Amino acid sequence: MYGEIITIGDELISGRTLDLNARYAAGRLTASGLRVSRITSVGDDRIMVSRTLSKALESSRFVIITGGLGPTDDDMTNEIVAAALNRSLCLDRQMLDRIKRHIEAKGIELTPSIEKMAWLPEGSRIINPDGAMCGCCIIEQGVRLYFLPGIPDQMRMLLDNFVLPEILSLYEAVPSVGQNILKLYGVKEHQIAETIKAIRSETGDVVLGFYPHFPENHITLSLSGADEPAVVSEIQRVENLIRRLLDPFIFASGNQDMEEAIGRQLIDKSLTISVAESCTGGLIGHRLTNVPGSSAYFKGGVVTYSNQSKMDLIDVKEETLETYGAVSDQTVREMAQGLRKYFNTDLTLAVTGIAGPDGGGPEKPVGTVYIGLSAGNQIFSERYRFWGDRGQIKLEISTMALDWVRRYINGDPFIPGV
Ligand code: ATP
Repeated sequence: MYGEIITIGDELISGRTLDLNARYAAGRLTASGLRVSRITSVGDDRIMVSRTLSKALESSRFVIITGGLGPTDDDMTNEIVAAALNRSLCLDRQMLDRIKRHIEAKGIELTPSIEKMAWLPEGSRIINPDGAMCGCCIIEQGVRLYFLPGIPDQMRMLLDNFVLPEILSLYEAVPSVGQNILKLYGVKEHQIAETIKAIRSETGDVVLGFYPHFPENHITLSLSGADEPAVVSEIQRVENLIRRLLDPFIFASGNQDMEEAIGRQLIDKSLTISVAESCTGGLIGHRLTNVPGSSAYFKGGVVTYSNQSKMDLIDVKEETLETYGAVSDQTVREMAQGLRKYFNTDLTLAVTGIAGPDGGGPEKPVGTVYIGLSAGNQIFSERYRFWGDRGQIKLEISTMALDWVRRYINGDPFIPGV
């Protein structure tokens, strides 16, 4: 059953706003066994919206349309749709009451522009029984048109709770769709491509996709079929094939990200961690604390950006900095050890490097970084060279440092440095 998605808004086609709605809706529809044949973004433009709608009516069974339902002058979806479908705009009392209740609770007066939101194309049906925001459905030439707010959270709530169940209820045998994503770090793209090629003859109908997602690489596995347990087990079989060849590089699967995966491992092993950061300026701490409940294992960190702060706060020796430099093996080791005076954690992680664009030299070019990890009476350190702009280098350093924690816990060797 084919459907399509239309997202409306000048901000989407001018590059100001990333289209989150199309991505989310496409993912949810596909995962539910529905086919998305086209995604179109159009500005707040009568002619373009009208043309896109007419085209959708020719080829789709359902259309998800987001944006342009609000009170401002550029929110014209209802007017445009009414004109395009040759329907009049009618005041929907139920919608008006809901809007009134919502604004009264906030002490806002009903203005004509707010009332405008309750003027819907004739034949519109509100799909959600309560709540301040509404989604509507119009059936035109047998095609279901779903109109949802542009605000991503609202759109997601209405799509998941009302639109998807309604579409799925209309069709009896929706095939089960299984999907998984394997997330890898530290393996080159061409190695992944070669691995996928090598197992191609054994992957059956499972569709493998490979997507660089800097600095990670993601492999997607998908399969549809009527028998859900068979779909799930077939995907697992192919996942095992991939793991056989690439397991040390797979840090997470599904929706889990690097910091969640590490958080899980630290909890499972009852380990605690603290960080001393120089060139990443707190990014590692930020990523670790993105995970709810991270206080169970992350005890804190210091950002020692200058030489003085490295000496004053975490006891890096002046002699070390003068002899070897701030970006050196000796310094990162002293940083990891010096951190122990603040945090009595099982692991202390330290990074020092040159994120650029300035500051590099022939011996230590931009992108040079040292990572250090101290664990009990062991201390490890390694030099790496990363590429990219300042933001990319910082991100990659933080990812490599977090991957070190994973590798240490798993007993895997660290990725060799340069
Ligand atoms: P509102 O009642 O707030 O006006 P609306 O349905 O009219 O909602 P818009 O005015 O188009 O929606 O957008 C509201 C907000 O949601 C804006 O900040 C807009 O940038 C954002 N938004 C709209 N569409 C998308 C989209 N496809 N992806 C991400 N953000 C979006």
